[in-house]
Amino acid sequence: MRCAICKKKAEVYLPHHNLALCREDFINFFLKRVKKAIDDFNMFEKEDRILLAVSGGKDSLSLWHALLKLGYNAIGLFIDLGIDKFSKLAREVVEKFSKKNKTNLITVKLENEFGGNTLPQIVERTKAIPCKVCGKIKRYYFDRIASKENFDVIATGHNLDDESAFLLGNVLNWNIEYLAKQLPALPEEDGFKKKVKPLIYLTEREIAIYAFFNEIYYNELNCPFSKKAKSHFYKESLHQMELSFKGLRIKFFKGFLRNQKIFGKVEKNYSLSPCKICGYPTSKEICGVCKIKINLGLIEREK
Ligand code: SF4
Ligand code: ZN
Repeated sequence: MRCAICKKKAEVYLPHHNLALCREDFINFFLKRVKKAIDDFNMFEKEDRILLAVSGGKDSLSLWHALLKLGYNAIGLFIDLGIDKFSKLAREVVEKFSKKNKTNLITVKLENEFGGNTLPQIVERTKAIPCKVCGKIKRYYFDRIASKENFDVIATGHNLDDESAFLLGNVLNWNIEYLAKQLPALPEEDGFKKKVKPLIYLTEREIAIYAFFNEIYYNELNCPFSKKAKSHFYKESLHQMELSFKGLRIKFFKGFLRNQKIFGKVEKNYSLSPCKICGYPTSKEICGVCKIKINLGLIEREK
């Protein structure tokens, strides 16, 4: 098979674009898709400071690589959750990437923030649902650090597979509120920083190929808590459908983006005010993260 652009030997075939490409043209294709998402949704400009949430997986590291290649100012934020081998390897690959690419990395070690408790220990001691508490803690530190260090925007490595699986889950459960705000760029609001997803036009497979071609080493271990995530089931179902109906996933997601306005604006039935303990925006008196710290006996309710 020949590359559709330069006619050299093709190394990749992208079924849903019906496109064969050589290595060099695939990398260009990938970077163009990232740039297109950034421009389509006015995610950020060249002068903006981007805080990129890096987990050590292929998505966030490939996004970091692509943003640097495109000339953006992206600094990584890694949250070390303390999940045995998984977090150790994640930390190693993230640090290696930042060193190799001579770019800055901010690391938050959960143990240092939660009196020596890792995520598994927090889960065990507070009887919390792992991914729920993990998401809450991560969002908290992304926003806190972005505000404290004056970043313009927070970027995450969510890809087309993630977003279409999330969409399927929201449609099946008619989560209108989530559908109304499932946008690739969420504006700065209520004290929370702007959040963007520049990989929404790329599939997991395309990202894995980009990582391979650019020798990006990433953590291939699965988080031991991930098996319980419902989103895996939706992702797998879409993958199965895609095998019979090529391009279905991107059509599904792009169709949603075109029609997303029909879900209207989210009418908030709550107001946010600063947490009494740490100042983070919350609809209650005390934010979720301070509540975890209270449950662990690290801080007192009244301050
Ligand atoms: Fe956190 Fe769940 Fe992801 Fe593990 S799978 S890193 S617990 S959100
Ligand atoms: Zn708080």
